[in-house]
Amino acid sequence: MSTAEPILLTPGPLTTSARTRQAMMVDWGSWDDRFNQLTASVCEQLLAIINGAESHHCVPLQGSGTFAVEAAIGTLVPRDGKVLVLINGAYGKRLAKICEVLGRSFSTFETAEDEPTTAADVDRLLHADSSITHIALIHCETSTGILNPLPDIAQVVAQHGKRLIIDAMSSFAGLPIDAQQVPFDALIAASGKCLEGVPGMGFVFARKESLANAAGNSHSLAMDLYDQHAYMAKTGQWRFTPPTHVVAALHEALLQYNEEGGLPARHQRYANNCQVLLDDMARLGLRSFLPAAIQAPIIVTFHAPKDPRYQFKEFYERVKAKGFILYPGKLTQVETFRVGCIGHVNQAEMHAAVAAVGEVLREMEVLEI
Ligand SMILES: *Cc1c(COP(=O)(O)O)cnc(C)c1O
Repeated sequence: MSTAEPILLTPGPLTTSARTRQAMMVDWGSWDDRFNQLTASVCEQLLAIINGAESHHCVPLQGSGTFAVEAAIGTLVPRDGKVLVLINGAYGKRLAKICEVLGRSFSTFETAEDEPTTAADVDRLLHADSSITHIALIHCETSTGILNPLPDIAQVVAQHGKRLIIDAMSSFAGLPIDAQQVPFDALIAASGKCLEGVPGMGFVFARKESLANAAGNSHSLAMDLYDQHAYMAKTGQWRFTPPTHVVAALHEALLQYNEEGGLPARHQRYANNCQVLLDDMARLGLRSFLPAAIQAPIIVTFHAPKDPRYQFKEFYERVKAKGFILYPGKLTQVETFRVGCIGHVNQAEMHAAVAAVGEVLREMEVLEI
């Protein structure tokens, strides 16, 4: 196992199938009709996953996920708008930072890293400040794995007549979201997370009327989703050089997503991965940071062993030598590490990964068993 490519148990880039990687072995021309059909097919399949074809456009964008988040805020929040940013981790803080850099007025509401934002919080905050136009929310906060109650928050936002921007980067296609039940102006995700594509493009599901009214909002030429969409609608092409290999890999990953059984099957596989991980780690005496009720089956944060012989760097290198890449913790108060449940992996890999963790902790004399 140590000579093979290690398995990535990280929330993107993550482990992809050989078939997905193989799809990148072609050089596509950006003017090629077949490539433009590939893009159109990808967008159509993405919209189908959230049942959004009636109400939303899918606007793809070159770059990592954060590029698409920044583009969504810059395009859909007017320059005189005000964003309420809901924070319980590093990605929520990044939303606030984006508003700051873009010069959009914003306020923040922060809860502890193990405490979801509630719909009641949002209701109270919207009553208290009528100048808020948009609410920005992280669905699954990947810095811990906590799940925020998106459907309830979306209902409250809609009742107040405000607009919702959702960073669903690590949950889209892994957890159910239906655009006809959950009202939103923008939902943002990327190629290299639950879709199990390779990293390199994000996409924004933008409500059709909101996008139509967004001309001239953006501070940026390259990040203007209004222009990106208008150009693609007119020509079938990406506005600037497309990430051709990434699009081809995503197309192949989507075929496999549907062959597997679509969202229910993907969700079930990740839920099984998560349960195996939690159960096997518990047997080693390693406790998860979040209670089960608010744990999304995407990534799990574990308390690091208290033993002074435990050092993350050594632990990481030793587990890597056994074929598994883990992820460092992202909490400031407590020492933790993270293990992803997503990617082209199933229960067998999760059992093997935890077995490797157990061996390593014994080698480091952190565990006696
Ligand atoms: C991965 C992720 C992003 C995007 O991160 P990039 O490094 O820019 O790809 C944004 N939000 C969340 C919640 C994520 O998990």
